[in-house]
Amino acid sequence: MSNDFEQNLAPYALKSSQTLGRLFHEEPARLRTEFQRDRERIIHSTAFRRLEYKTQVFVNHEGDMYRTRLTHTIEVAQIARASARALKLNEDLTEAISLAHDLGHTPFGHAGQDVLNLCMKDFGGFEHNIQSLRIIDKLENRYASFSGLNLCFETREGLLKKCSIARAKKLGAVAERFINKKQSSLEAQLTNVCDEIAYNNHDIQDGIRAKKISIEQLENLSIFSDQMKIILKKYPKLSGSKIVNETVRLIINLLVTDLINNTKKNIKNESISCVSDVKNFNALIVSFSDDIKKLSMELKRFLYANLYQHPDVVKMTNQADLIIKNLFAAYTSDIKLLSNDFYQYNLDKINSGFKERVICDYIAGMTDRFAQQEYKKLF
Ligand code: MG
Repeated sequence: MSNDFEQNLAPYALKSSQTLGRLFHEEPARLRTEFQRDRERIIHSTAFRRLEYKTQVFVNHEGDMYRTRLTHTIEVAQIARASARALKLNEDLTEAISLAHDLGHTPFGHAGQDVLNLCMKDFGGFEHNIQSLRIIDKLENRYASFSGLNLCFETREGLLKKCSIARAKKLGAVAERFINKKQSSLEAQLTNVCDEIAYNNHDIQDGIRAKKISIEQLENLSIFSDQMKIILKKYPKLSGSKIVNETVRLIINLLVTDLINNTKKNIKNESISCVSDVKNFNALIVSFSDDIKKLSMELKRFLYANLYQHPDVVKMTNQADLIIKNLFAAYTSDIKLLSNDFYQYNLDKINSGFKERVICDYIAGMTDRFAQQEYKKLF
């Protein structure tokens, strides 16, 4: 079904009537577009609910005020949807990709991914982005006639941010663009950049709240100090967290405005007039201007050096390492330690030589808290 809203989209926006369809045939939805249906399936999935208890940067129960994967995901969806509307792109598709973009994350954030990848090095490795696709294609277990969520091709393809050629060959049509060197849709490109806008800015707020970084440090970054000056000129008596929050608000506004304007410029300069122009173009169409790209990179480098590499955050990395390595070893030596439901559901895979992949799926699906409880129980 198409609806009035899709009539008003730009010619280079992806419309649900153009979908290449789902892996398993289903009757078209009556009241919704196919991309709306995808979005709603993602929200009803188990993996989506678990995002609430997964680390973004700070372990979930270090404090109630920090971002989790879930609140991060909602922020990405909000920024991406607003930008999609301004560019007359498909909001529903953009939102579906945004809501699913981090489903494949392990407990304990990137630290968890790295150690799980190490555990799986002889069995095909682990990468959270590929895992997101695996969850929506295979692991969600709720529909009678198929495994996974049976989402549209465009949502699935939009989720795959990067992929090696070797892996792309195994994944088939959904990853073909990596082999053919084609681009993803504008909706997918937009989600990627909005992910960055969201985490760079909320990590400033969370980092300050956790006292891992300071306003004085941030003042060395021109993107922060310029926006802070604007705020203090308007409100000279402003203090505390209001300064940070107002500054971050202006930075997000600056980045989003630049992204929209520069993308419009690219669309015009490169004469992009349909979806295939987007896919066949030799670079990304959704991008910041050069000046803003520089400022954004500067901020990213700062957060990497001062927040993600902060001794307290690294300490969490070491804890993730210990927990995940030991859990992986324990399940490998006794597969029946998996929950009985999960064990029964995967019995065929276990018996046909994919024991390690099943264990990897089990651990990747854990929340921070469940991983810690399970570790306490077993060791
Ligand atoms: Mg993300």
